[in-house]
Amino acid sequence: MDIESFLLALEHEVADYKAPVIDLIGVQTQNPFKVLVATIMSARTKDETTARAAGRLFDEAPDIHALKGLSEERIRELIHPVGFFKNKAKYLYKLSEALKPYAYKVPDEIDELLKLPGVGRKTANLVLSVAFDKPAICVDTHVHRIMNIWGFVNTKNPLATEQALRTKLPQKYWKKVNSVLVPFGQIRCKPVGPQCDSCLLEQSCPKNGVNPRRIKNAGSGTLKFISWNVNGLRAVEKKGFIDIVKGSGADIFALQETKAWPEQLSDEVKNIPGYSSYFAQAKKKGYSGLAIYTSKKPLNIITGLGMDQFDDEGRMLTLEFETFFLVNAYFPNAQHELKRIDYKIEFNNALFEYLKQLANKKTTIICGDFNVAHKAIDLANPEANKKNPGYSIEERTWMEKFINAGWVDTFRVFNQEPEQYSWWSYRFNARTKNIGWRIDYFVIDEKSKSWLQDADILTDIFGSDHCPVQVELKPG
Ligand code: SF4
Repeated sequence: MDIESFLLALEHEVADYKAPVIDLIGVQTQNPFKVLVATIMSARTKDETTARAAGRLFDEAPDIHALKGLSEERIRELIHPVGFFKNKAKYLYKLSEALKPYAYKVPDEIDELLKLPGVGRKTANLVLSVAFDKPAICVDTHVHRIMNIWGFVNTKNPLATEQALRTKLPQKYWKKVNSVLVPFGQIRCKPVGPQCDSCLLEQSCPKNGVNPRRIKNAGSGTLKFISWNVNGLRAVEKKGFIDIVKGSGADIFALQETKAWPEQLSDEVKNIPGYSSYFAQAKKKGYSGLAIYTSKKPLNIITGLGMDQFDDEGRMLTLEFETFFLVNAYFPNAQHELKRIDYKIEFNNALFEYLKQLANKKTTIICGDFNVAHKAIDLANPEANKKNPGYSIEERTWMEKFINAGWVDTFRVFNQEPEQYSWWSYRFNARTKNIGWRIDYFVIDEKSKSWLQDADILTDIFGSDHCPVQVELKPG
């Protein structure tokens, strides 16, 4: 591929887009301190949120000396609601102490920047590039993703992409690559449903691993379903959830672990244009819970399994449509030392019976967080987890029995590769290192297997410790 022509074409295209917030702050302030602070705040946060939080913080702390005078609590108040604001407030609180050896100036060398609290390679490279105009390649999720889509690199994580770009990409594009690909990735080549139909690279892009958006009513008859354990719907709303749904082209978007009663949710998240939304919640506030957004009106809504011990925990929500049932389930976690394994297996068996009844009537699709990796290929460290929740023999045996009874794990119909995961621990940088588990599934009854068109894991979507999974079906 001709990388230079791709980047030059896009440079013109993104000139009309909104510039990334860090570029704006760099141009407007020419101030390395502000670029560094805003970059620390910007990780996993929408640009608008970062811009507002940076504005509040810089009003009170326009330089490092003023920042030194703020308590950690005050910094926290000022930067809320950027993602991970508690950790980021901690980093910013420690920043003045960390800058002491540099006479309270931001260093302009990568190794020194990496010693600062909250500064990883992405932040350090962005600061070098924007604040000091030095050649640096800032590889965020968009740069990593798009370079792989184009086949310019073939890498598993942003660090490997940065290393590959250092050898392959002409240096004159190092600084440009982030300012071009971030807005392009946010607006056109989105992680979910990239707009290939209106992309100027449509003819020449190899579209590796891409599932382009489908224009609704295009008459294809294919339905797209997405399922995501959001680990808190209110939290993920702040990380761009509504735009993700709007850009997904999904006919049905199912969520688990919403951790909210509908009355605790904003009107915006309850009323996403083009969708009706349905909720099931636990009795206990802030725990479990499900939601389904659907562009088609269901015939019938069934909340729970009809068993109080499970329904009180908000674990099941079924929508009935003319030709199929969609069952959204949040399976219990067996918990440390398998304390809840009996409860979990009881739930699984009750669900099994329920699904059999539905499948006798019409096509039945079940999606959700099953809280189990089925086989060794479905987790990074099978040996070490043989007795742990999510991979215990009891859970694996149940899953095997379920699949053998005539249910199809849709993802494995299309993909037999290892290292395909949908959940990563928040600890140990597990997602970056891809030390994960595949515990989120779309399963369909075997009689309806001919409906299957495609299945995928949307690893480029962030905002939760899970990523979404997807299936495309063509009712036959
Ligand atoms: S054609 Fe599609 S996949 Fe390729 S760059 Fe454009 S939007 Fe991205």
